[in-house]
Amino acid sequence: MPCIKSLLKESTSLLEISSDSASLDAEILLCQILKKERSFLRAWPDLELQSKQTNQFWSLIKKRQQGTPIAYITGNKEFWSRDFHVSPDVLIPRPDTELIIELSLKLIPDNKSIKVIDLGTGSGIIAITLAAERLKADISATDLCLAALSIAKLNARKHDINNIKFYQSNWFANVPPIKFNLIITNPPYIAEDDVHLTQGDIRFEPRSALCSGKQGLNDIIIIADTARNFLEPGGHLLIEHGYDQQHIVQSILKDYHYDFVQTATDLSGQPRVTYGQWNKL
Ligand code: GLN
Repeated sequence: MPCIKSLLKESTSLLEISSDSASLDAEILLCQILKKERSFLRAWPDLELQSKQTNQFWSLIKKRQQGTPIAYITGNKEFWSRDFHVSPDVLIPRPDTELIIELSLKLIPDNKSIKVIDLGTGSGIIAITLAAERLKADISATDLCLAALSIAKLNARKHDINNIKFYQSNWFANVPPIKFNLIITNPPYIAEDDVHLTQGDIRFEPRSALCSGKQGLNDIIIIADTARNFLEPGGHLLIEHGYDQQHIVQSILKDYHYDFVQTATDLSGQPRVTYGQWNKL
């Protein structure tokens, strides 16, 4: 029977052809089969697998060779130190999105109930992280896709979050006429013909969560426009966007008369979130 060390060696060299994280991928997939942490692999390199486990491992490796993202194979991905269930119905959480969480946390007080909505919640990472970090916040979340909403609800239960109001809605279309203090969104913002769509993990993610018209701006424009009817005076709109969309998103917000429009930079130094304040009645 093959041991951990030999399985890792063989599978890593197979994955190297198609993945630039071959060794990590192989380790994660083996942990999935063994239901162990990665440290276990280092501690027991000579442990032999049963033949059923070996077969299961090779079938996961095959999926990865065909390009399926690791998160869709294992069914989970970490975000803000919490584990989230994911499926091909939702975008895979990205570290870039931690920036919008940091900015939101600065705007949500610890001790006061303010109204927050996450538009296009997908797996629910933004709404659930904010609900877990700010227990008093009154949080809503929307998604157009029912399958995505069930994953977000599953993730909310997984993290014992019971007070998010979920709406199946095309942006604000089915949201009751409430005024929010904070509107947050990581909308689809990629141009339809962007070459990145044909590379790597992104090929397997839902197009509706990624693309938004010729320049990737259709949804951002709709959100910036309609959010004005749903913001309390003094409330903020925060939009995650592409690394090259800072100027255009700033000008969209300014054209719609948001004040103090600014852009924040993510961990890799890219302009990633543009935000503004609504000060009109
Ligand atoms: N809000 C989710 C995320 O940040 C989904 C975003 C999306 O599907 N565009 O990952």
